[in-house]
Amino acid sequence: MNTFGTVTGFHCRNCEATLEGEQVGGYCPSCGGVLTVNWDIDETGLASVTASRTPQTMWAYEGLLPFSSEAAVTMGEGGTPLVKVPKLADSVGVSQLLVKDEGQNPTGTVVDRGLSLAMTAAAQTDVRAVSLAAPGAAGQSAAAYAARADLDATVYLPSRAPFERKAMTNVHGAELTVVQGRLPDAENRLRSDRDTLELGASLGPFETPFRHVAHQTIAFELLAEMDRVPDAIVVPVGTGTVLVGLYTGLVTLRENGLLAELPSLYAVQPTGCAPIVDAWEGERPTEPVTVPDTVCGELEVPEPAGGEWVLDALDASDGGAVAVPDEAILDEGLTIARESGLELAPEAATGLAGLRKLASTGEIGSESTVVTVGSGTGGADLLRSRLEARPR
Ligand SMILES: [Zn+2]
Repeated sequence: MNTFGTVTGFHCRNCEATLEGEQVGGYCPSCGGVLTVNWDIDETGLASVTASRTPQTMWAYEGLLPFSSEAAVTMGEGGTPLVKVPKLADSVGVSQLLVKDEGQNPTGTVVDRGLSLAMTAAAQTDVRAVSLAAPGAAGQSAAAYAARADLDATVYLPSRAPFERKAMTNVHGAELTVVQGRLPDAENRLRSDRDTLELGASLGPFETPFRHVAHQTIAFELLAEMDRVPDAIVVPVGTGTVLVGLYTGLVTLRENGLLAELPSLYAVQPTGCAPIVDAWEGERPTEPVTVPDTVCGELEVPEPAGGEWVLDALDASDGGAVAVPDEAILDEGLTIARESGLELAPEAATGLAGLRKLASTGEIGSESTVVTVGSGTGGADLLRSRLEARPR
């Protein structure tokens, strides 16, 4: 009897390969492509989406997830506030603007949703250890959820990751390796260490499908909370797990008759590292950025594994992609803190900077209702340094 939740198997997005059994992380054994997971949803779970109230946690949608809340490694992630910001809506030039405040998650980031589900999957197997490389936030989050699941975690962070992320990774008891340089350096070190060390299951973005699958719950929450589905959802994009999760969640809703039309999805990246925007504006496939450089370390992902999937989602939802400079991003972080009280990290404020650009060119119309994903909190030092640097 299959006891791996309701998982029925895996298939490769790139070739026809299918896999069975319990798998937490890894790429397609035939072609190295990204694996997707198939599972049986419980259709009674759809009622929780139409209940018209904010759930307490994302596990309110257990019927639509591969594992039950009973099995969950959870600290109450999801069920985050959807906050109206009318002053910003006016200044940006849209009818209504709401921020999904993912900074309210247990470790202050949207990635908690993914690590909760991925750690739940790991805890269902005989795996005793997990590992990943991350720009920062996912390292801390993985350390926290591994502690909760009583699994050993090994985390690789680049030296430029914020001090607090590194410190909390240690505090939660994970083995932390700080690698000189940027994210690809940390990823390479993990890859080479995997040959000699017992690093267990991979929990990297798209290396485990459960991280992006968990982000479907953002789509479910939006439908449950809003009178009408937004016209556009603007998402800061680094690895792509949030946008891909949102997209697949919206498709699930549409396939089950709960959504007539997909909202347009927009990806926003910092100008200094915008491989998905470059591909959207030019030739696919996405090419790695050779010299990434942005203050938004969380979005400094020069070779996103989910790049092609993000581009497919933008296409299918009639959305788009836009890049914004660091100064504009930091200014939005300051503006929202001063006008609405919300504390968005620079990577989260990137969505607002992108929205302002999209609204100014008319790509997002003035009558639109827009949601932006405030992907996390933090970065006070960066915001304050911008405050001191900019003209008064
Ligand atoms: Zn394949």
